[in-house]
Amino acid sequence: MMSHELTLMHLLNCRVSFTEKEKKYFWKMRKGFEGECQFDELLAKSVPNENCLVLNDLLLEHNNTQFQLDSVLLSTSTIYVFEIKTFEGDYYIKNGEWFFCKTNNAITNPLHQMQRSETLLRQLLQQQGINSNLQIQSNLIFIHPEFTLYNSSKDSPIIFPTQLNRFMKDLGKKLTVKPNQRHMQLAEKLKSMHISRPSFENIPKYSFETIKKGISCASCRSLHVILIGGTKMHQIFCNNCGHVEEVDESILRAVKEYKLLFPDRKVTTSSIWQWCGVFKSPKVIMRVLKKNFNKVGKNRYSYFVV
Ligand SMILES: [Zn+2]
Repeated sequence: MMSHELTLMHLLNCRVSFTEKEKKYFWKMRKGFEGECQFDELLAKSVPNENCLVLNDLLLEHNNTQFQLDSVLLSTSTIYVFEIKTFEGDYYIKNGEWFFCKTNNAITNPLHQMQRSETLLRQLLQQQGINSNLQIQSNLIFIHPEFTLYNSSKDSPIIFPTQLNRFMKDLGKKLTVKPNQRHMQLAEKLKSMHISRPSFENIPKYSFETIKKGISCASCRSLHVILIGGTKMHQIFCNNCGHVEEVDESILRAVKEYKLLFPDRKVTTSSIWQWCGVFKSPKVIMRVLKKNFNKVGKNRYSYFVV
């Protein structure tokens, strides 16, 4: 599932101008999400669903240190931790440091990052009194088919794109037993320790007054949409990709986006009319809101419960 943070970034992308730093962050998040989806698909293909207890995107804390686990698979004997990377292009290792070939720039060593997470997870489980007959096995997964790493040791826990299918098949063979009550409890415990990020420091600042308004295209998310449908004007047409959507659906989508971006603002006819931007009169907004939501209050102070 897409994180709340990534959803917000998607919504904001066409409505505020991102700084270079924010653009990079958004791109990194999107790549990471794509990589995790790809990995989940592979996992679903290789391991029977009933034998698979998977937790994605866990953010945990131990000794005041937060650590993120991309994908955790609980089996009867082992906790598998997968760190998924979407690196593309050629990299090399020199004196234990990792570099990107094209620029010779050093990058954060992903093996260290993975080992650090494993240690913290081990300590956290111990501290929580979780009986650890369970082994922890961490693997660093590179999912992009055009990734190459020079000077990597044969014994390192790295799975390269060319090894991924085989690795998954082997994993499927190992996971032949359904998780039992104990694993369910462990999964619940881990989920309960998950920290939802309190502040989205990487998300650009925005306000209703300054944000670019308009209905976004359901297909390409662009704001270049116009009303069509003859005199009734009951459809939204995207000038960017040609997608057509019924007005009612577009308005409901716009309300949903408005609520996500402005959870503290009330949904009123006038605010949604301003938010959508394309309608000459607020009548159509009023009709759609009345049809779909409960109205609270009277006259100009009324709002809808969404
Ligand atoms: Zn479009």
